[in-house]
Amino acid sequence: MIANYHSAVKSCIDCGKCGEICPICKVSDNILYTPDNKIKLLSKIENGEELTKDEFDTIYLCTRCRACNEVCPVDIPIADIIQYERGLLAEQGREPEKTRHIIKNIVEKWNPKGLDNEKRKEWISDDLKFSDDSEIGYMAGCWVAFAHGEIARNTIRILNHCGIYPKILEKERCCGLFVIDNGHLNEAKEYAKNYVEYIESCGVKKLIVSCPACYSVLKFEYPKLYRKPSFEVVMSLGVFKELIESGRLKMNKINKVVSVRDGCPLRDRRDVPRYILRELGVNVVELFDEDVCCGAPAGVKPNYPEIADAVGMLTIKRAKEISEMLISYCPFCLYHLEWVREKYGADIIMKDLSTLLIESIS
Ligand code: SF4
Ligand code: SF4
Repeated sequence: MIANYHSAVKSCIDCGKCGEICPICKVSDNILYTPDNKIKLLSKIENGEELTKDEFDTIYLCTRCRACNEVCPVDIPIADIIQYERGLLAEQGREPEKTRHIIKNIVEKWNPKGLDNEKRKEWISDDLKFSDDSEIGYMAGCWVAFAHGEIARNTIRILNHCGIYPKILEKERCCGLFVIDNGHLNEAKEYAKNYVEYIESCGVKKLIVSCPACYSVLKFEYPKLYRKPSFEVVMSLGVFKELIESGRLKMNKINKVVSVRDGCPLRDRRDVPRYILRELGVNVVELFDEDVCCGAPAGVKPNYPEIADAVGMLTIKRAKEISEMLISYCPFCLYHLEWVREKYGADIIMKDLSTLLIESIS
């Protein structure tokens, strides 16, 4: 793998396409921040050589959105090499203090902020119905449970409306994406093993998740880190689409022009939210011709808040120009963009898709 990474770096033809698409480069003209320059630091990092501040920063100025991977004409796995470089820096005791702190919180306290995990269930309201006997489980995820409880409430309301009563995971925890994104793969392996075994022990056969990151990690990363879970992992949006297609979920039309904030891990399934929005009767306008992430993930928000905010503003400004409302289906995008909106006084309505759905059936 490591030898492959070195030959991959050497195969770069300096076409510049990765720099053109990288969201970090859209808000900074520092030449060292381009994706190709990030991976060209591989040997230097591997040899434990001293890095300048810009060289160090560029490794952590990456949301791991993978937009660069998709445009590279010679198929260099840029985001994977950055993850590997971060893993090396962590082993050498050189990762950012905030990154180390967040990883410790996730591994030891099961959430990024080290909050009391019992508070995860504070989103549950009296009108919601669950069944301990169900083989369908529900995982809200950290950013839903701690910051956007309405997403979980509305998701369960929609499921209940269609006669589905899932089981709550009593010991739900963070999916661990941040640990993976920062190259702590040994800790991530152990974490994946424990969480997969716990969910299986709950008798869950199908797990509905409300966060694209949880979906991607449980479905695609855990099998690489540990093994394929015995339960199926499905995104709430996929369940909503099936319910609409089967006629079990009927909605009133909403006459709005909306833009959509796509969650990076669901980039290849962006047709699903658009299908739901079309069925709701809204007019969907596209934010960008290319992929532009929200700017926050993988440690950019805690370590480089101004840059995370500047990338977030790209979405907010564009959404305001072309639409009446920005619809998200990623709780972390929503959390970050609401923060940016408040900080800079931007005037745009933002909602999770589950909120728009519940408004259309109540
Ligand atoms: S993964 Fe995204 S943020 Fe990271 S270098 Fe590639 S395009 Fe830039
Ligand atoms: S897109 Fe690929 S080949 Fe082109 S500069 Fe970036 S890493 Fe090199």
